[in-house]
Order: sequence, then C-alpha cells, then structure tokens
Amino acid sequence: MRAKLDELVTAALQRGAAVPAFTCYDFTTATAVVEAAEETGLPVILNVAPKTAAARAGQRLITALRSLADGAAVPVCVQLDHASDLAVIRESVRSGADCVLADGSALGFEENIALVRGVRAVLNADGGTAVVLEAELGGLAGDEDKAFGVDVQAAGLTDPTQVRDFAERSGAQLLAVAIGNVHGKYKGAPKVRWDVLERISAETTSSEATVPLVLHGASGIPAGELLKARTLGVGKVNFNTELRSGILATLEAETAAHRADGENLQGLLGRWNASAREFAAATLRTLGE
Ligand SMILES: [Zn+2]
Repeated sequence: MRAKLDELVTAALQRGAAVPAFTCYDFTTATAVVEAAEETGLPVILNVAPKTAAARAGQRLITALRSLADGAAVPVCVQLDHASDLAVIRESVRSGADCVLADGSALGFEENIALVRGVRAVLNADGGTAVVLEAELGGLAGDEDKAFGVDVQAAGLTDPTQVRDFAERSGAQLLAVAIGNVHGKYKGAPKVRWDVLERISAETTSSEATVPLVLHGASGIPAGELLKARTLGVGKVNFNTELRSGILATLEAETAAHRADGENLQGLLGRWNASAREFAAATLRTLGE
C-alpha cells in the first residue's frame, strides 16, 4: 500500500523503531524485500540508485516497483536515491517514485539548499506536491553501487551548527547525515561519531524543528549501534552492500547445481529471492521491533 515516507518514518520513531531502505537493482530483489516486509508486518522502503534510474529499462523498473508497492499488504515507499539531475528526478517521479533524495551534498551549503528548493519547485509545478524530499548535509565517502574498502577518515562530517538552518530553509522532510558512516565497506571498524550525532539530534528533535534523520551506508555497522542511533532521531537506515554480498555469495554457491539441473534458472531465482528475503526480514525485525 502507498505511504508517505516522512509520515512512515516519524510514526516509526514515535514507537521507538526505524524503517530500513534496501537498494534494489532488479525485480527479484524488490519482490523479496516486499515479501520480507509482509512476513514481518513492517513498512519498508525500496531504493533505486540514480545509475539504475538512468540505465536501460530503469524507468520501467521504477514502474514495476511502484506496482509491487501498491499491491503490498504493508506500507512501501519507492525512493529515487542520491539524485541531483532534474530530468532524471522528474522522469522517475512520473514513473512511480514517491520520494527522492535530492542530493546536493557535494555542493556548498547555500547551493545545497538551492538544489533542494529547486527540486521542490519543479516537482510542485508537475503536480508532485505529495512527493517527499530527503536531503543530505555533509559528505559521505565511498561508492553507492560498488563496495570497496573506504577509510572512515575520508568521510566528511555533518556540521551540527548548520543542521537547523539547513532543514528550515531547504524544506527537506528528512535529513541524511554523515557521522562517520560511508558507502560500501568499512576499512577497519566503523567509528560512529556519537558526539556529532548527539549534537545533530539536539537540533533536529526539538518540538519546533523536528526532522527525522537518515543513516546511509549502514552495512557493516553493528546492530547495537543502529539501535542506539534510533534513539537519537535516526528513523531511516539505508542498506545496499550487505544485500548485494549475500545475493552474489548465493549465486556463486548455487549456480553450478542449477546449471546441472537442466539450466534451472527459475530455481536459481528462488535461491536469490531467499537470500534477499532472509536478510531483509532480519533487518526489518532488528530495526522495527
Ligand atoms: Zn547513500
């Protein structure tokens, strides 16, 4: 069923939970994630990477995910992740994305605000006033689609003193922060900067300026730390690398047997589904219960 991302995440935080978002490059994975959400009775977010949205048949995948979300027994959002290209954003919303990360994190502070406001104006003009916008403040190191070891020292941190001004002026409904998290794999142990998150949280959870926080690059951060982040206003947590690793390991382990079994692609897709579904269900339960 349809859901508004900001309302979904705010409701989760109010009951002490957070909502995971899983990057889906294909329909098999997305189906598995939605099945896991239905199995656990918890809401979920399907993330589409900008390279997927711009790739061959990427827009048709968004439409397929929209249909999957609408038919689900639990609330499901379809989000265009990390987008700054207005044409891709407009097209993806027309195809069925109901939320967008308007990502100006590589820009300066004022330019980042201008980008989020610009995306809002363009979507509103298209009749997309209901589309929910996430923004990102601070620089996340690493690659969104490929997992290489990333040195956490390379990650820029969100400046807590900028957060309230940014949230108010950009109009962002959710805010992704950089607190020592990275995209991909952590070189060494992840070091979440709790001091920074606590200061950001103090700025964003006060009654007059509440904006839910988002943690990207959660693969590799221990569950206990994600639960602690939840108490500091992090209501949405993005996963990509762990899901991909599990699927690839399953395909490596299962392909030969399924080839020998009469080129049984249907059976192999079943194993792919099971791998993604098990990871998504376990993650949904950890964050949502
Ligand atoms: Zn991200």
